[in-house]
Amino acid sequence: MKQFFTTTILLTTGLICYANSERLTKRMHRVDFSQVFIDDAFWSPRLKNNAEKTIRVCIDQIENKTGRMRNFEKAAIPEGPHSGIFFDDSDVYKAIEGMAYSLVNNPDPLLEQKVDEWIAKIAAAQQSDGYINTFFTIQEPQNRWNDMDKHEMYCAGHLLEAGIAYYKATGKRTLLDVGQHMADHMMTLFGPNKRTWVPGHEEIELALVKLYQVTGEHKYLEFSHWLLEERGHELGKINVRENIPWDKRHYQDIYPVKDLTQIYGHAVRAMYLFCGMADIDSYIEGTGYMEALNRVWEDVINTRMYITGGIGVAYMSEGFSEPYDLPNFQAYCETCASIGMVLWNHRMAEASGDGKYTDIMERSLYNGVLSGISLNGDRFFYVNPLASHGDHHRQEWYGCACCPSNVCRFIPSIGNYIYGTSDDALWVNLYIGNSAKFKMGKQNVEVEMDTQYPWEGHTQLTLKKKLKGNLRLHIPAWSKTFEVCINGEKAEYKQELGYAIVSHKWKAGDQITIDIDMPVEYVYADPRVKEDVGKCAIQRGPIVYCAEEIDNPGIFESMQISSTTDKWQVKKDNMLNGIYRITDGNYNLIPYYSWDNREPSQMKVWIDNK
Ligand SMILES: [Zn+2]
Repeated sequence: MKQFFTTTILLTTGLICYANSERLTKRMHRVDFSQVFIDDAFWSPRLKNNAEKTIRVCIDQIENKTGRMRNFEKAAIPEGPHSGIFFDDSDVYKAIEGMAYSLVNNPDPLLEQKVDEWIAKIAAAQQSDGYINTFFTIQEPQNRWNDMDKHEMYCAGHLLEAGIAYYKATGKRTLLDVGQHMADHMMTLFGPNKRTWVPGHEEIELALVKLYQVTGEHKYLEFSHWLLEERGHELGKINVRENIPWDKRHYQDIYPVKDLTQIYGHAVRAMYLFCGMADIDSYIEGTGYMEALNRVWEDVINTRMYITGGIGVAYMSEGFSEPYDLPNFQAYCETCASIGMVLWNHRMAEASGDGKYTDIMERSLYNGVLSGISLNGDRFFYVNPLASHGDHHRQEWYGCACCPSNVCRFIPSIGNYIYGTSDDALWVNLYIGNSAKFKMGKQNVEVEMDTQYPWEGHTQLTLKKKLKGNLRLHIPAWSKTFEVCINGEKAEYKQELGYAIVSHKWKAGDQITIDIDMPVEYVYADPRVKEDVGKCAIQRGPIVYCAEEIDNPGIFESMQISSTTDKWQVKKDNMLNGIYRITDGNYNLIPYYSWDNREPSQMKVWIDNK
């Protein structure tokens, strides 16, 4: 990646002031997962399942059970008909991104050969002008770039993310070149003094920033910024599909993005929009985006988010209704939206160093995201309700398969979210066992982490090399007390924005232990959430618990709990691939993420108060 330098560029859209290097060094920078080798009792089996099951399911569905790969073969000719939905190409790209991430820490020549095969077919389907989208090439070539809700830029964004991931994993750049050619094609048509465009489904915005990062070409940043600025000016002529009462709110095209105060419309689109805004704000000064994102964040967290970190309530629009409208049986909470919450909150934490974002990232990760994949890694939830009559089950795949392919690319990149670096500190955001080697400024950092998280709050960090700088350890908001020791001696620390800042003259071999208490906690909803009045939920550490009928036969319907009289015990159990269950000898609660992995059963997160 090229070094960024202070510069000012005049565009026809106005004066853009690139962030100077001082501003960029004050941020928390992410440590890429490729430098973090996960070795963890909780996460390693999930990475293994992703490599051995989830990726296989995606390959089988894309090649054999659906026409997704065949669509690329047809587009190369071209001949019809196209099979599936107009945005199905994106699932292929997301699966490639997942395979690329998996290859980084699990080299697999046969898998790499498979990706190469796919990439050759994708490259052959690209038109000579750079355009690539199998639906339009096969089915409606005359309608290219005619309807802003037809996801052409959405698919292009996922193509770019896949091409960049595979290039970084293998050094092979064919798919990156295909993506860049498509990006250049789009920029011949759209931009200042050219055609306007407001993508109906965001994604391209954040992908163009990644393309800038890998190529060093500012034009991609500028194009992303331009796309964001086009929103909310009555410019978007998105053809609203017949009989669906969606308006510009659905596409986040109602206000200029810098003026946003609330979240609107489709949840996943909103998440990708916010990621793109945060990315652009990190490079371009004076956008007003971070101020807008902070306003929107307050709206989301205080009035629209479930205890699981899931968002989006409306089935029809996959989006939002009124504040505090958070029904349990009808909760939509698309898995992709929870993944989006992790992606967005991670960016907010990087920009601000504020642990309140890390808290939400952790909440969405351990609950809303993990519930989206079965314990065996081969079945998926699209919708993640907080209560079930026993009729909601994981599926092998979905016609609209955004969630399975999103899980496939998210899980192997979990290492992205653990560490951060800034000028004066090494940040620990999540406690996941790993060994890592990376740069912090000019220093080479080598560190190992051992932890029993998320079941126990004990973590040991070992510095394998001496370190100059502070440690900033995330202390989750659910924690009431914690202790930090250096080589067995209680350490002094300062607390700032949800992080314990530990200063020390660090040497190689230093061991830092962090003990965070993990009591069983009762959580009450805001009284304006009608469905949860008179109810409470149980959380321990980052894990939200639920009751399944199968563990509470005959008493499920009448369950009542009380924070004043209950005496809960926490029991390690081999059931459900190893969990800590919570029991009072009568009732049994399991982690929410693990529900619906046995025979059909009723389920609830919110339980009546005594
Ligand atoms: Zn989805």
